[in-house]
Amino acid sequence: MEFRDLKKQYLNMEEKIKHVVQEIMEAGKFIGGEPVDRLEKELSGYVGAKHCITCANGTDALQLALMSWGIGEGDAVFVPDFTFFSTAEAVSWAGATPIFVDVEKTTFNMSVSSLEDTVIKIIRDGILKPKAVIAVDLFGLPADYDGLKKIAKQYGLLLLEDGAQGFGGMIGNKRACSFGDIATTSFFPAKPLGCYGDGGAVFTDDDNWAELIRSLKVHGKGENKYDNVRIGLNSRLDTIQAGVLLVKFKEFAEHELASVNQASSYYSKELSGLVDIPVIPAGFQSSWAQYTIRLEDEKTRNRLQEYLKSCGIPSMVYYMKPLHCQKAFSSIYHIDTSLENTKQLCNTVLSIPIHPYITLQEQADVCQKIRSFFNGEQEG
Ligand SMILES: *Cc1c(COP(=O)(O)O)cnc(C)c1O
Repeated sequence: MEFRDLKKQYLNMEEKIKHVVQEIMEAGKFIGGEPVDRLEKELSGYVGAKHCITCANGTDALQLALMSWGIGEGDAVFVPDFTFFSTAEAVSWAGATPIFVDVEKTTFNMSVSSLEDTVIKIIRDGILKPKAVIAVDLFGLPADYDGLKKIAKQYGLLLLEDGAQGFGGMIGNKRACSFGDIATTSFFPAKPLGCYGDGGAVFTDDDNWAELIRSLKVHGKGENKYDNVRIGLNSRLDTIQAGVLLVKFKEFAEHELASVNQASSYYSKELSGLVDIPVIPAGFQSSWAQYTIRLEDEKTRNRLQEYLKSCGIPSMVYYMKPLHCQKAFSSIYHIDTSLENTKQLCNTVLSIPIHPYITLQEQADVCQKIRSFFNGEQEG
């Protein structure tokens, strides 16, 4: 069994992918061009954002957003303690300081009350200037944007949505990547919408930021890339990747997102009562980048993972370490806040196989093995 079966996904659309890649090869234009423009139009339409600007990866997307806001030294940017490294790395790279905020145990997303407490502490402390908050749509579930927007507004913070894992998720009838002042996503192969290499995108309704990001991603270009008006990056989505994404996005929207939601419902029905299952608040929809269960303690989690491995079932621990415990952040400025939920999650979470092409038989097998693990425990 595969944790996320990208080979099976490819076989399902093999002819279409081969065709689009061959067309691009034969046209001989490998940077920019019609496939990239078309993809940006399709994605902005789907997400419901005025602008989509593709770039080289999801980490650059975050960096471009922070650069367009002029965030730098002396600025505090609030990030969840429980997320992939990039979310905070981009802040440090911009010269600003990531300030870690605790998450909710049930949704894995940034806690609104922890955000407010942390912002107040930073203001009282008076050393850094609170500038922005990066909310992450972790494991595919949009963060609590109603609550987060209130805090952002009250304290004058810009809101950046890191939708690297969230593409396709919804709150009401609004899609992920439309909730932040700027939103970003990643097309890393294992994300909900992945390409066959690295890729990313930035979304916003703001014309000025969009124009600035279009300049920043091509060496700070002015009239053209040989007229350089600011220091930027080289961060473009390859034409071939755009071609792959045009095919994959159609499949994603037409049936993959529905399939993965069906798979998650099956898990939740079979596993509830046995382990703590992911909580999807009313009106929210996840794109199920991960299906993550919680166990009662670290020992049980580790033993279950070992047991599943011995049965040929892959599982992953996302994430093993709170960001504030990463060595790379050991010497940055820290403020004293409770990050208890993150610490506990790092010890108790386990992500089990999920993707649009998982079979009912595979899922039944996963559930049966988890059940027999707990039965065996009771006997032992
Ligand atoms: C994957 C990921 C990123 C970075 O995306 P890349 O395309 O790998 O650079 C950023 N934030 C989160 C939450 C991610 O999961």
